[in-house]
Amino acid sequence: TKVLLTGGSGFIAAHCLEQLLAQGHNVVTTVRSEDKAQKIRDTYKDQASRLEVVIVPDIAKEDAFDEVVKTPGLEVVLHTASPFHFNWTDPEKELINPAVVGTTGILRAIQHSAPSVRRVVVTSSFASILDESKLTDPNHTFTEASWNPSTRADIHRSKPTAYRVSKTLAEQSAWAFVRDQKPGFDLVTICPPLVLGPLAHHLPSLDAINESNARVVKLLRGEWKNEIPSQGPVSIWVDVRDLARAHILAMDKPEFGGKRLFTTAGYFSNAEIAAVVRDRFPEYNDRLPGPEVKGGELPEVDKTFKWDVSATDKLLGFEWISLDKSISDLVNSLKAFGI
Ligand code: NDP
Repeated sequence: TKVLLTGGSGFIAAHCLEQLLAQGHNVVTTVRSEDKAQKIRDTYKDQASRLEVVIVPDIAKEDAFDEVVKTPGLEVVLHTASPFHFNWTDPEKELINPAVVGTTGILRAIQHSAPSVRRVVVTSSFASILDESKLTDPNHTFTEASWNPSTRADIHRSKPTAYRVSKTLAEQSAWAFVRDQKPGFDLVTICPPLVLGPLAHHLPSLDAINESNARVVKLLRGEWKNEIPSQGPVSIWVDVRDLARAHILAMDKPEFGGKRLFTTAGYFSNAEIAAVVRDRFPEYNDRLPGPEVKGGELPEVDKTFKWDVSATDKLLGFEWISLDKSISDLVNSLKAFGI
């Protein structure tokens, strides 16, 4: 299959790319700079005939993807690129626009110039499923049918809220596009909660770690030694390799068309993450919190939301990677940075 993968330099996309190439697909991937493109070309020198890396500098521009979608023979598009970090000052410009215009822009470009595309898979998020007011409600169950009720008017409440709104608006605009335009492709969206696991992308330094893995770098640097921070109310997670696998399964199966996948391995807590590292990596002991250190426990069952992903599990039909394996493989991949 010939696949266009946006944001190939990202944490999740790098695993999609690795699995796509390993399974023999042809991939065109977009990155923001020549430097990032070259890193990817170097990594996959041996598969150069099946990989093209194209520069798309700014996905917030309406016409960002107009040229790359003209690549002959594209069948599937995986749109993963979207800002997931909190170092912005203008949420409209730096967060909402790349998320929303990036999504509508690529869909419009495909509709106009890529008639061979039969399916588009968009990386959305649990951020577009959750309801901030229900996260501590034990009587509330989130499913594939749930939608975040926050709107553009809420983006100044907090940085996490602004991020969640960016993902919600982007996913809503994708569904609205297929509903209104009836293009020649169908849509699958994938809604993962916190994504953890080993790095497959190039990082200039550990300070450039992606947002969801940043907590493990902090742990290894000794920042949790005296108190483990709370993981916050969003205490569910998934391994990045499982998530990439879900993206690839979503490319082909007809029964996935028009579906939202809510890919979740289970609850997690920062205390469990610390315990995995303590058990598996004694070489970090002097920087890690001891078993007596408090904080980051799982919320009590009567103080947290429920989730039901049975519809997604039925479609995907695989067992989720454990937190123990995900964190162990992540720590091993971080060792390359001399931590
Ligand atoms: P990364 O930050 O590693 O990847 C984000 C990707 O988007 C990068 O390739 C980045 O490019 C690109 N990007 C961001 N902003 C722009 C922009 N303005 N113009 C062009 N490209 C841009 O994070 P993840 O891999 O974790 O995120 C990938 C997707 O998964 C996102 O859609 C995110 O919302 C979603 N997601 C992530 C979760 C997680 O816990 N990690 C949970 C749920 C959803 P560059 O490398 O140049 O910065």
